[in-house]
Amino acid sequence: MSSPKKVIISACLLGEACRYDGKSKPAYHVSEAYKEYEIIPFCPEAPILGTPRERISVIEMANKALHVRGDESGRDLSKHLKFEVLSFLKEHHDVTLAVLKSKSPSCGFGTTPIFNIQREQIALGNGIAAQIFHDRGLHVKSELGM
Ligand code: SF4
Repeated sequence: MSSPKKVIISACLLGEACRYDGKSKPAYHVSEAYKEYEIIPFCPEAPILGTPRERISVIEMANKALHVRGDESGRDLSKHLKFEVLSFLKEHHDVTLAVLKSKSPSCGFGTTPIFNIQREQIALGNGIAAQIFHDRGLHVKSELGM
């Protein structure tokens, strides 16, 4: 018997209470759509920042580079998040599909608010994890519109 296909899904969409506010954002239509797949839950923020935690945002710096920073502390979390995402991908290198939570600074795909250093929203773009997944060739989908 062949092994099931695999899909990475944002853990909060699966009902895990891993969001910054200690809540989840269940989207049962997503798990239903992939019920024949092996589902691999993914949340890069909770393991390194804890839950609940400070809100974070994607900021475009003066040199146009995108960094993830704490809204209150201003702490730059980009390196920590990147390390977490790359470690996850190393463990799950055989997975080619990811369904990620919209609007998140980590998981959003084309839906994440991007701010300038004055904290004005200047665009919608990708969260840090979604961008890395995309760069690594994964097919990334948002739960919106599914
Ligand atoms: S959107 Fe991503 S980083 Fe945020 S709680 Fe959900 S899985 Fe975690």
